[in-house]
Amino acid sequence: MASKIAIIPGDGIGPEVMKQALKVLEALKSDYTLDVDYDVFDWSSDYYLKHGRMLPEDGLEKLKNYDAILFGAIGDSRVPDDVTVWELIMPIRKTFEQYVNFRPVKQLKGITSPLADSHSGEIDFVILRENSEGEYSNSGGLMFHGQEKEMAIQNSIFTKAGIKNIAEFAFEYARKHHYSKVTSATKSNAITHTMKFWDKEVGKIAESHRDIDYEKVYVDALAAKFVQQPEEFQVVLASNLFGDILSDLGSAVAGGLGISPSANINPSGEYPSMFEPVHGSAPDIAGQGRANPIAQVWSLALLLEHIGRNDLHDHILKAIEKLLLDKTQVTNDIGGSASTEEAGDALVKILRESKVELT
Ligand code: NAD
Ligand code: MN
Repeated sequence: MASKIAIIPGDGIGPEVMKQALKVLEALKSDYTLDVDYDVFDWSSDYYLKHGRMLPEDGLEKLKNYDAILFGAIGDSRVPDDVTVWELIMPIRKTFEQYVNFRPVKQLKGITSPLADSHSGEIDFVILRENSEGEYSNSGGLMFHGQEKEMAIQNSIFTKAGIKNIAEFAFEYARKHHYSKVTSATKSNAITHTMKFWDKEVGKIAESHRDIDYEKVYVDALAAKFVQQPEEFQVVLASNLFGDILSDLGSAVAGGLGISPSANINPSGEYPSMFEPVHGSAPDIAGQGRANPIAQVWSLALLLEHIGRNDLHDHILKAIEKLLLDKTQVTNDIGGSASTEEAGDALVKILRESKVELT
């Protein structure tokens, strides 16, 4: 039976880079047995301005029928950012219990890290970010509005089950992929309730995975280490907020937002998982044909791996590495001179020319 994918291009550069990912998907479909059908949904800020909501009332119900979701990016100056995030991305992540946010930090061949002068080791690790609770809770409020003592409270919600789920995923991931160490980001010296609880629950899971080394590092020091010794890391486990910040840093260290992919995974497989670039809608370059399509295409590769096509994932990554060898084929953010469209076309050409017998 064909796998069904829901495509949500979104706003800004989202549709521009999604177009390139769909070209890649079409090329793979015609060159290999890849039994995938997809539908495109125009849920975006434009949709919101027309209908007063980011997605139709039965939108989530519709998505439930898909095996996976490929997402572009959202964000538009005409709609508040918290509306686009809390009415589209968050409901998808939460409803479909996508409690794992997976972000590879891998320096591809042909990418120069901004740290190139200061270190020589290979940057290749993964960040596993808790994706459904923690600091991103929308619980709290503004008090004493307009008064001198006006204040805001934002609650963080950490549950035993939530921490256990992400920690177990991290240690199991390490085991499965032959990593020997999990690094947990914490701040229990200053955030004394939630982060101590995080340490305690992660510690328990570490105890039951004695074959994997476990270290906890304060997130501020960890940020510095990402820059000073990025080759030290294997699996980094973090709460929602810490993981969000660390993964943009990880992305910058490995070559930039233009190439970094992510996966929002529902490990039980009961609901669809969602794949999207780490970057946003990049309004500063939208409409100029300058967006780098690699992050979106790499996200597609992660999606294909998720639906069982490891071979096509690897094939796409090799093609991206080949693309990176020629600066006239890549976009300006990574030192090239190609437009979004040219980079996408060059990638498709490489994929077709390197057609291999896949297993
Ligand atoms: P951003 O990721 O959109 O842009 C940050 C910088 O990186 C910009 O200078 C941009 O030009 C550059 N950049 C990003 N992607 C690129 C690409 N593919 N090629 C070349 N350069 C690229 O982050 P931001 O500026 O903080 O946010 C812009 C909007 O995106 C906001 O509305 C924000 O809420 C939204 N956003 C959405 C998501 C999402 O959809 N998951 C994620 C982050 C931000
Ligand atoms: Mn982010």
